[in-house]
Amino acid sequence: MVINYNDKMITSQTETVRLFQSDIPEELAAVMKAASHCRDKHVERKVFLRGLIEISNHCNCNCLYCGIRRGNQKIQRYRLDDAQIVSTALHCFQLGFHSICLQAGEDKDDNKIKRIADTVQAIRKKSKTMDPEKQGLGITLSLGELRYEQYQLLREAGAHRYLLRMETSNPDLFQSIHPPAQRFETRLECLHMLKELGYMMGTGVMIGLPGQTAEDLWNDLMFFKELNVDMLGMGPYIPHADTPLARSSRPMLLDPFAAALKMIALARLSMPDINIVASTALQTLYPDALEQGLNAGANVVMPIMTPQPVRSYYQLYINKQERPPSETIDRIAAAGYTPGLCEWGDAPHYVKRARSEGLGVRR
Ligand code: SAH
Repeated sequence: MVINYNDKMITSQTETVRLFQSDIPEELAAVMKAASHCRDKHVERKVFLRGLIEISNHCNCNCLYCGIRRGNQKIQRYRLDDAQIVSTALHCFQLGFHSICLQAGEDKDDNKIKRIADTVQAIRKKSKTMDPEKQGLGITLSLGELRYEQYQLLREAGAHRYLLRMETSNPDLFQSIHPPAQRFETRLECLHMLKELGYMMGTGVMIGLPGQTAEDLWNDLMFFKELNVDMLGMGPYIPHADTPLARSSRPMLLDPFAAALKMIALARLSMPDINIVASTALQTLYPDALEQGLNAGANVVMPIMTPQPVRSYYQLYINKQERPPSETIDRIAAAGYTPGLCEWGDAPHYVKRARSEGLGVRR
């Protein structure tokens, strides 16, 4: 991999690792500047918005880092009903967010997946009727590891993007933050299934996990390239007090914020035409983290649109940011970017891939 920036070329693992280990502000600024140029050239200065609707916090997984893990009995569980999901989605559409993401804890129960598929279909149909000139709401799903037939059902219902983070490409590190029943190989198989089914596929990692090294982050970048991803969502690991990982004795070796910005920048430089999110987790760390994420090369923001009464129950980590969507739009514009309203904002990488692989994007 060759990453060109600031007259320098990062061509090796050694140089990338050194960059992650450096705490020199000018080095971070240089890689961000180069990534920003690269973004302007390949995906313009436009920032797409995805209304994030957290439809349920019931979860059968027991990830050692996650606040909605099955074992956390301190939280109030909820599940939005179908009508609430549809009306929240249509509200997003009215605000000009023509793309939404339905996210939930993992639940492979066939009946629940069938209900989500029906809801996806209803959202597609109703949003198209609301504005027949346009293609309706684009739908991304983030429901975890499902079976092939379930991914297929959801795809046929009209969802066309799927986000499933690998969390880390290091199998040992993965296993150390998940119970033995949650396997690295299964996650990988799911990502391949999603691609096979023609989804625009997004993955990502957490940054700054206990025991995670700069070499791990280099390997993550290699992993994304190899997998030929269309979208990336990467964010800092933020400990949640009611999880086992928060009590880990393994040290955090990287500064999660600086490393996350460097990861965004290096991902942009090495995969110029994909969509990269300035994640919600990143935005919790500093007041200007949204702008910094964009300046590092991110071109997507996912404002939380979950209905107010249940929003506080979906705590993957502490201090989740709260901000009215209009403020996010204003800040994007104030930072010198065009808010990408009233369009789906597909990653150019996917559009090209879909054309060459004959995937046929369902509209
Ligand atoms: N069940 C779905 C979506 C919910 S979790 C799925 O598996 O995709 C969404 C993401 O939140 C996870 O993939 C993880 O990367 C992130 N996350 C969970 N706990 C976190 C924490 N403590 N700090 C930072 N990110 C976290």
